[in-house]
Amino acid sequence: MLAASASANAPPADVITLTDKGLYCAAGDFFIDAWKPVHRTLVTHGHSDHAHVGMGEYYCSTTSESILRWRLGEQNIHALPFGQTITMGEVQVSLHPAGHILGSAQVRVQQGNAVWVFTGDFKREPDPTCEAFELLRCDTLICEATFAYPVYAWPTMAHEVERIERWVAHCKEQGKAAVLYAYSLGKAQRVLAGLAGKLDAPVLLHGAMARGTDIYRQAGIALAATEMVADVPTDTDFAGRMVLAPPSAQDSAWLKRFKQVEQGFASGWMLLRGNRRRRNMQRGFVISDHADWQELVDTVTESGAQRVLATHGNTDALIPYLQSLGIQAERLRTAYGDEEEAAE
Ligand SMILES: [Zn+2]
Ligand SMILES: [Zn+2]
Repeated sequence: MLAASASANAPPADVITLTDKGLYCAAGDFFIDAWKPVHRTLVTHGHSDHAHVGMGEYYCSTTSESILRWRLGEQNIHALPFGQTITMGEVQVSLHPAGHILGSAQVRVQQGNAVWVFTGDFKREPDPTCEAFELLRCDTLICEATFAYPVYAWPTMAHEVERIERWVAHCKEQGKAAVLYAYSLGKAQRVLAGLAGKLDAPVLLHGAMARGTDIYRQAGIALAATEMVADVPTDTDFAGRMVLAPPSAQDSAWLKRFKQVEQGFASGWMLLRGNRRRRNMQRGFVISDHADWQELVDTVTESGAQRVLATHGNTDALIPYLQSLGIQAERLRTAYGDEEEAAE
């Protein structure tokens, strides 16, 4: 009797487990954001640490499809509308908005009564460039922990956009171009949406920004007017012109055409002054596409999850904090990095 009741109470097998190729759902025989070649993977979004070439089949959200085709080339991609449930093996799978970049998805997997959710990268601050984060109830939550320290508390986007406008005006007085570095997928377009209708002249774009910006416009997202740097005559007066470039353009020969510049960086890491100084930036704008500490904690508690597995970043503060709330919390050592936020 005792043995029978003990086995009835035994915890069910994990629906999603960590393998050396990525997160794996054995009952559905698929991976999520696999980083080594596998036969079938769901992809939460187009950033390079989550979307890799070499997979047999890809599943992604409808709005992510054009981004994956751009980043991964010709692949076997199945696009799923948000909220639509499909059956894979013994599980039901659906994608839900993560609010991180255009098309970014959380993955909900249900096996019997057990509900698991992987947030992927997410944020909860409203963002006109992507679908709004959807809060999902679950038993086990796999969440990112990129900015999992209480010091990370984001200012509003409107606040940082006003700072950018003032900076551009300052650069105009100084006879300089305002060169803002931002990751070319997601962050750049969010900055352009924030600046729509606010600057006197079109924002100048580095070539790396072209394709992503086109995809966002094709998705119907209103962005500030832009012009490609390559299309502008070299004798143009760049004083007070805003330039958007990827972080790799910093200190490159490409910058010389603007003559005098001030440089700024848009990233959650810019909250810490040391990061701004280390990168030699005159300005840091605290614009992150990831949840801050409070958003992470709220998401965990509002999800109702009894168990949390944290990926990406440093979980030293988050795990003990969640444990103090009576939540079973542990770290998952995935290969996801923070390329979109990398300040180092
Ligand atoms: Zn990302
Ligand atoms: Zn990531």
